[in-house]
Amino acid sequence: MREALVLAGYAREVVVVHRRDRFRASGTLLGRARGEPKISFLAEMVVEEVLGGHSVEGVRVRHAKTGGASVLDVAGLFVAIGYEPHLGPFAGLLETDGGGYVILKKGTMTSVPGVFAAGDVADRRYRQTATAVGDGCKASMDAQGWLEKQGGAGRLLGT
Ligand SMILES: Cc1cc2nc3c(=O)[nH]c(=O)nc-3n(C[C@H](O)[C@H](O)[C@H](O)COP(=O)(O)OP(=O)(O)OC[C@H]3O[C@@H](n4cnc5c(N)ncnc54)[C@H](O)[C@@H]3O)c2cc1C
Repeated sequence: MREALVLAGYAREVVVVHRRDRFRASGTLLGRARGEPKISFLAEMVVEEVLGGHSVEGVRVRHAKTGGASVLDVAGLFVAIGYEPHLGPFAGLLETDGGGYVILKKGTMTSVPGVFAAGDVADRRYRQTATAVGDGCKASMDAQGWLEKQGGAGRLLGT
């Protein structure tokens, strides 16, 4: 809903294609989107194919239950399918919350001593470049402090 509202500030028309008949967005956001005349909704539909040559000229959508297909004449497609923290090799090793975000224990320290997390992977709320950069700074300081406590290895990192 947030992305649709942003797009409505620039586009003539925004069609939200959603595979279910319900939305997980907050009531406030959903209310704002529903109240925006430029936004319309296609529920229980999935985008099956993007049509066009050098640019998007349409999308083929299919009803999730009936299987019926139709074509939407649109000039752009923006995919907004939510967030999934990508833990890579740390998946399953670090404690995470219900949404898969790394839980921080002390400062930027994770549930595994000596492993620190910064940025979007541990930030369910802000997920911004500026906050990620600050987290990175904090994590490097925490890592250095932790290494120093382990026996002075942190001195190798500089100050
Ligand atoms: C469309 C869009 C628009 C945005 N606009 C803004 C904006 O205007 N202003 C703003 O402040 N923020 C914006 N953001 C958010 C911002 O991009 C993020 O908050 C920020 O990039 C988070 O930084 P990060 O270092 O935590 O994660 P990322 O930038 O995602 O960096 C993680 C890195 O880790 C790498 N990686 C993943 N797995 C592994 C692995 N196993 N091994 C090695 N490397 C790996 C990835 O390739 C990636 O390079 C936007 C995000 C999106 C998607």
